Amino acid sequence: DIRNFIPPADCLKGKNILVTGAGDGIGKAAALSYAKYGATVLLLGKTASKLEAVYDLIEAEGGAEPAMLLMNLESASYTEMQQLAILIEREVGHLDGVLHNAGLLGVLTPLEMYDPIIFEQVMKVNFNATFTLTQALLPLLKSAQSGSVVFTSSSVGSRPRAFWGAYALSKLAVEGMSDIFTQETQKTTTLRFNCINPGATRTQMRAAAYPSENPNTLLAPEDLMSAYVALMSDEAAGIKGQVIDLQPQ
Ligand code: NDP
Repeated sequence: DIRNFIPPADCLKGKNILVTGAGDGIGKAAALSYAKYGATVLLLGKTASKLEAVYDLIEAEGGAEPAMLLMNLESASYTEMQQLAILIEREVGHLDGVLHNAGLLGVLTPLEMYDPIIFEQVMKVNFNATFTLTQALLPLLKSAQSGSVVFTSSSVGSRPRAFWGAYALSKLAVEGMSDIFTQETQKTTTLRFNCINPGATRTQMRAAAYPSENPNTLLAPEDLMSAYVALMSDEAAGIKGQVIDLQPQ
């Protein structure tokens, strides 16, 4: 079971892995873990100071020098994403993994009252940009020996839940996209697509969704990292088209 996987040291050595939303929360923990297991991490995010802090932590822990890719997924164009792919190929040569982790909660309210501007922002960051970035990076990912794309879903991504509006719809779309990519590519490439549902995790997003909850009752991002590392490693070569739920059952 991938949730109990104990990653061997250096299991990501030689791999270049891009993490979106790498400056905070789960993405930050994943970036630090990937570096700890030997990967060169490409830190993508919209707040330079947060990316710099993660960069410094990786350097301080002796990890391979990361790259910082400042990009706002809400406003980035498809052309910018294609340029990013060219930049990655030129600077680091190959790309073995992408963790699509950046996300926006939006508001918790009935669809009837959902602000259409916020709806569009949430869909853009959580879904549309996730799609276009994947598409732009596909040529690079397909030429990796054992490439891995990991999307981030949610418990509301497999069943719609009242009041979760654009967030739930964006995660449903992400799960569908992972499934379609899997079906369309499985005969022609070793590249694999999976979703992780981290479940209730101690981050700012969770606190915004559940303001009265005691954060100390939740798992921290660091507690989930063995599965995040496993899915990027060659140990997971046969795992395709799954939604992996990381919470204790
Ligand atoms: P946080 O809010 O702590 O972190 C979200 C990250 O996404 C931040 O690094 C943020 O950057 C980045 N981000 C947001 N908007 C953009 C944008 N426009 N462009 C680039 N980056 C952006 O959330 P979590 O760590 O909790 O969430 C990570 C993922 O896990 C999300 O996809 C979320 O939906 C999912 N998830 C989380 C759960 C939880 O309980 N925490 C449960 C289920 C799923 P910045 O800080 O610079 O704004």
